[in-house]
Amino acid sequence: MKLTIDEILEATQGEYLFKNIIESVEQIITDSRRIKGGELFVPLVGLNFDGHDFIPQAIQQGAKIILTHRILDKDVYMNEKICVISVKDTLKALQDLAKYHIRKFNIPIVGVTGSTGKTTTKDLIYSVLKQKYKVMKSEGNFNNHIGLPLSVFQLQKEHEAAIFEMGMSALGEIDTLAEIVRPNISVITNIGLSHIEHLGSQENIFKAKMEIANYLEREDVLIVNGDDPYLNGLKDQVLGFQNLFVGIHSLCDLKADNIKDLGEAGSTFDVLFEGQPVNFRLQVPGTHNIYNALSAIAVGRCLNMESAMIQKGIEAYQGSAMRLHIISIHDNIKIINDVYNASPDSMKAAISVLSKADAKRKIAVLGDMLEMGQYTKMGHYTVGCEIAKKSVDLLVVVGSSSVHMVEGAIDHGFDREKIIVCTNNQEATAYLKKTIKADDMILVKGSRSMKMEEIVAGIQERS
Ligand code: ATP
Ligand code: MG
Repeated sequence: MKLTIDEILEATQGEYLFKNIIESVEQIITDSRRIKGGELFVPLVGLNFDGHDFIPQAIQQGAKIILTHRILDKDVYMNEKICVISVKDTLKALQDLAKYHIRKFNIPIVGVTGSTGKTTTKDLIYSVLKQKYKVMKSEGNFNNHIGLPLSVFQLQKEHEAAIFEMGMSALGEIDTLAEIVRPNISVITNIGLSHIEHLGSQENIFKAKMEIANYLEREDVLIVNGDDPYLNGLKDQVLGFQNLFVGIHSLCDLKADNIKDLGEAGSTFDVLFEGQPVNFRLQVPGTHNIYNALSAIAVGRCLNMESAMIQKGIEAYQGSAMRLHIISIHDNIKIINDVYNASPDSMKAAISVLSKADAKRKIAVLGDMLEMGQYTKMGHYTVGCEIAKKSVDLLVVVGSSSVHMVEGAIDHGFDREKIIVCTNNQEATAYLKKTIKADDMILVKGSRSMKMEEIVAGIQERS
């Protein structure tokens, strides 16, 4: 990546505060600690810190161009060989730079949003597209108003396609992200309950996710889960772009048939391409992952990939870190490490995987789901119902909202003797360490801030 000083001024509508002869930069950094020398430093204002306070440190470490929306003491830069550019708002400037950079590329851009499965679907699409194209994807969970523009700067000349994850916690946020990258292919995985605290209703979540289609043009494509009640409603609408439905149950453009659930080992299924069944082998477990894979297959089809290449890409996908990752410990004891995050939908998906596992006892260790606002009670309660309905032998809960899971489970016939309520991860770990036996399968899952990875690490230690 290379941005000249003139391009930076043009993209950000900025003005020189201090000028030196500096032609271009190859890196944009928002964290002053990561500066190695020669970069553009964009200080951002966060909840706890204001990046402007670190401008002296950034200069000392060798940043060559500094953006600012705060008035700076001249002594900070007067004697340095740097440029300082004043902008209205540094975050907006970062986004404008990303917009400017990505507009240089005439390549297919894929955007992925949805309540659950964004990262997984993005990684699956990457696995498919890389069989044919030099493709760039946003790393990890870089999916917000800062992470997405930073990901855009990873785009290099050699890339032939790019995939971006787009997350949100309020209306209007996906619109901002979609406006930056302007996807040609947009994917919405599903409409669930994540972030409902801020959005107020599922209807609003649907509206917010649909913002990913705001910049699609006639030949562009929106790929959605046709089995999702909200997204299914799009079937009756005339949209100004192509719409592809993927699914298992309803009438869809790409439909998985002949599904064989292989438990922990994943699944196989067929999809009709021009009337001919093509068989796919997916190495990650759970029906929800078939939906994620169908979206990836649809993207491959939109980008003219042959079936053999798409098959290879789906089969090559090994899972995304901390998401339904199966770890074998001693004595054939296995952990399903799904600690990355939790919402009612992903809880249900994980419980379904656990219940189908080939194990002597199936133990669910579940923590609170956060950011659910007025849906907290209902969300946890329904997860408890799911535990009662599925084949689970022991429920261990951690956190204050989990009482509602316990209620849901007991109300639906789950034996209360098989429920252990723990106040923290240490207590749950101590309990599990003395309880787990050979051939047990243990699902560990909760919201990110519940830090359930402490339990995964704890039970792996031999006492
Ligand atoms: P985040 O909002 O944290 O970025 P995400 O949408 O990127 O989440 P993933 O990180 O892919 O989602 O997965 C989060 C959790 O949801 C994991 O536990 C995963 O197993 C589960 N999951 C993945 N895909 C689906 C799906 N289609 N339906 C339900 N749950 C899913
Ligand atoms: Mg994600």
